[in-house]
Amino acid sequence: MEICGGQTHSLVKNGILEMLPQEITMVHGPGCPVCVTGVRIIDEAIWLAEQPNVIFTSFGDMLRVPGSKKSLLEAKAGGADVRILYSPIEALELAKGNPDKEVVFFAVGFETTAPANALSVVQADKLGINNYSILASHVLVPPAIEAILSDVENKIDGFLAAGHVCTIMGMDEYYPIAEKYYVPIVVTGFEPVDLLQGILMTVQQLENGECKVQNQYARTVLREGNRLAKETIHEVFAVNDRTWRGIGPIPHSGYEVNNRYKKYNARLKFKIDIGEARENKDCISGDIMKGLKKPFQCMNFGKACTPEHPLGASMVSSEGACAAYYHYASG
Ligand code: SF4
Repeated sequence: MEICGGQTHSLVKNGILEMLPQEITMVHGPGCPVCVTGVRIIDEAIWLAEQPNVIFTSFGDMLRVPGSKKSLLEAKAGGADVRILYSPIEALELAKGNPDKEVVFFAVGFETTAPANALSVVQADKLGINNYSILASHVLVPPAIEAILSDVENKIDGFLAAGHVCTIMGMDEYYPIAEKYYVPIVVTGFEPVDLLQGILMTVQQLENGECKVQNQYARTVLREGNRLAKETIHEVFAVNDRTWRGIGPIPHSGYEVNNRYKKYNARLKFKIDIGEARENKDCISGDIMKGLKKPFQCMNFGKACTPEHPLGASMVSSEGACAAYYHYASG
């Protein structure tokens, strides 16, 4: 299993899946933050965006993700002030320029985006900007790998870990997982040659009966990760339980704003009032992200569910397995 949606995209786009010998089957992991953001959080985002005094800001790929009843894009079409930004620091600038409004940033992503989102909170605090907050939806890779390996239906023999996540967090969290579940984990990059080498290193370990953590992406990843980035994350965030779309709750698999910076936590600043969140029952993206099924096995794939009319988040994001198959794979 390749963990990251960027790796899935590269594997499918470059035809690597078709080139692999039949003894090797790649399955596609949950490493697309758009895909795994829980429906409840999308509903929270929409509720916030629809408050009269709020400017809701987000990376563009979150806008089309379906919530229980609608998407952020539909909320925007209905009059909500939803703006697409490329960085949380832009949201901070927006807050500075609109002191009579509340600016909320949708802080989505794996460990990779957490440092910049945390930094925006530290900056807001330093500058005394009080009309800024974040809706945290961070998810963490190692607990997800453990959840997948603990599933009774799990058949995965080896993992390509996500090179960019390890650039931030380092590799230490993966050693106990490799040892406990006796599974090779190779930290891998995103170029075709990276992926081919990562697959080769995994297969060599399997043939030798090994279960080591190896670093294919050594040009970027240090075992200890990026110390400054990790310190910034730990300054602002605390680990909490998180519900992953399609997969369900995974203990200790997310970040929430910690008590010290609680005035920047949109969940505490606003009394968010939403009903029960509902996932689309026809979407099997949870099984796809656990490596149990492929997109082609979804009866809606390319019919009721397309990138123009997605039923599930895996079809929205360019890093989602369903979107990658839709654009590049042949049945
Ligand atoms: S094709 Fe659509 S409905 Fe099917 S699993 Fe993918 S996102 Fe869900």
